[in-house]
Amino acid sequence: MAEARRTDPKAITRQSDDFDRWYVDVVRRAELADYAPVRGCMVIRPYGFALWEHIQRALDDMFKRTGHQNMYFPLLIPESYLQKEAEHVEGFAPEVAWVTHGGGKELDERLAIRPTSETIICSMYADWIHSWRDLPVKVNQWCNVCRWEMRTRLFLRTTEFLWQEGHTFHESAEEAQAEVATMLDCYAELAEEWLAMPVIRGRKTESEKFAGAVYTSSIEAMMADGWALQSGTSHYLGQNFSRPYDIKYSDRSNALQYPHQTSWGLSWRIIGGAVMAHGDDAGLVLPPKVAPVQVVLVPITRSNDVEGVRVVEEAVAAIERATPEGVRLTVDRREGIRPGEKYAHWELRGVPLRIVVGAKDLAEQRVTVVRRVDGEALVVPVDAIGARLPEMLKSAQAAIFDAARGRLDSRSVDVTSLDELADAFRERPVFASAPFCNRAECEERVKAAVHAVTVRNLRADRTASGAPCLACGGAAEDVALIARAY
Ligand SMILES: [Zn+2]
Repeated sequence: MAEARRTDPKAITRQSDDFDRWYVDVVRRAELADYAPVRGCMVIRPYGFALWEHIQRALDDMFKRTGHQNMYFPLLIPESYLQKEAEHVEGFAPEVAWVTHGGGKELDERLAIRPTSETIICSMYADWIHSWRDLPVKVNQWCNVCRWEMRTRLFLRTTEFLWQEGHTFHESAEEAQAEVATMLDCYAELAEEWLAMPVIRGRKTESEKFAGAVYTSSIEAMMADGWALQSGTSHYLGQNFSRPYDIKYSDRSNALQYPHQTSWGLSWRIIGGAVMAHGDDAGLVLPPKVAPVQVVLVPITRSNDVEGVRVVEEAVAAIERATPEGVRLTVDRREGIRPGEKYAHWELRGVPLRIVVGAKDLAEQRVTVVRRVDGEALVVPVDAIGARLPEMLKSAQAAIFDAARGRLDSRSVDVTSLDELADAFRERPVFASAPFCNRAECEERVKAAVHAVTVRNLRADRTASGAPCLACGGAAEDVALIARAY
């Protein structure tokens, strides 16, 4: 078998052999994405884009529900716009790609290809916000951004990527901070309810926050190898941008004020997260709510059996008719391909349910449904299957979430010292939680204690209540989530 895998160009590396290679194999062979000619760039293929569209739609609905509007700002940003917020420039400068020539001439001012849009959005809103009546402003844009990456990885770290960036302006700090929390909740809802990935919410440390933010909050999900993936961030910017960009409004008592801002973003990186959280040696395992194809029907016929073909085709048509609107079903009628190959094809693509329609089963008025997540096979009466699909998809979605939840629970540990932290990581990567004083020196000591770990966030769901910090023993208020991260 191992030999066959090495020689078969279609085979994928086993997770246990090499998780990174497994990941790249699955992304490419399942036709989600592929490398592009420019290093660090990626082509997202139709199957991958369909997945992105489902994520986009779910998230966009949440944005609308929470009172946001979409708009669009340009890709190119004048260098002078970028310079105004010092921390922001310093944070992004190494990753910015510059346009220096246009129309055959050198430009008077270099133009940045946006790494994120705070600077241009602030510059424009400085002209549009005048009064407290203009607030709050709550906008979002779906776009691409460019950050020059040295180490790249399909979906997870690419030079150009698709994302959404939300930007809001408020009268008060309280209102802006409530917005930061609301949007983090939207990201958590997307991760948990749609992508079946349980997440841990929390606040980033000073060293890990967004350049220019007062604070950054994140959701962190556990991948199948125990590593963490930051899957969405929401930032409170305070007045750090409104001051240098001179966005002023007259408040309710006619005094000039600077608005409080937020920004928040989620990228196609989360597709890589869903791949790594749920996939197995056969390929993707897609949560039904975002799967481009939710159900595949595989008719099994022999061309010389005319009567058998008729019976099978009739049953397929009947199942299609009985399938409720909104269930994404496809029939695999490709000729000259053995059933086993077809099964493998759809398993690789993570299709949640496979229905095998063969003459033998039909003689007893039934079909077999196989669930991708656990291979569970159910024999169902043919006239009942269509109506039962929504409920079966729902339970497949729950099974995927439960498996991810079970892994997160079994690989989470509480530690109270750096020695215990090192012990916890001895066998395999885990999510370690520990009382933490949130000082930079202690963060460095945590990083030095175990290879490649970082403080992912300060957990929103827990408090240390003065317990001793794992690094210095001083009184800690926060509980740090410590893990290796992509
Ligand atoms: Zn400490």
